[in-house]
Amino acid sequence: MEIVKLLLSMGETIDDPHDVNCKCDECDARDDDEIRWAKTRLTCYRALASPVYIVLQSQDPFLRAFQLSNKLNQLSIVEKSYKVGSISLNLHPILHVSA
Ligand SMILES: [Zn+2]
Repeated sequence: MEIVKLLLSMGETIDDPHDVNCKCDECDARDDDEIRWAKTRLTCYRALASPVYIVLQSQDPFLRAFQLSNKLNQLSIVEKSYKVGSISLNLHPILHVSA
C-alpha cells in the first residue's frame, strides 16, 4: 500500500487500456502482435483492479469497482483465451463490502 501511495503522490497513474477494436492513431501505429497487446491489456487491468489502487486512486471506489467488473466481463467474452475472470475476483473485496 505504501508503494502505491508513493507512486500516486508522484503523479503516477495507470491509464485504462484501449479497447480491443480501438482504431485510434496510437493503436494503428503499434505492431500486429495481438497476443502481446492482449497480455499488456490484461496486465493493465490486473493493476487497475487492485483493491489498494482503486481505494487510493478513485473518488468513488465502489463505482470504479463496478465499472471495472463490467468492463472485465465484456472483455472475457472477447478475449476468451485469457483468464480475465480471475482479475474480476480481485474486485470482490470491494464489491462485497457494500452487501
Ligand atoms: Zn486506441
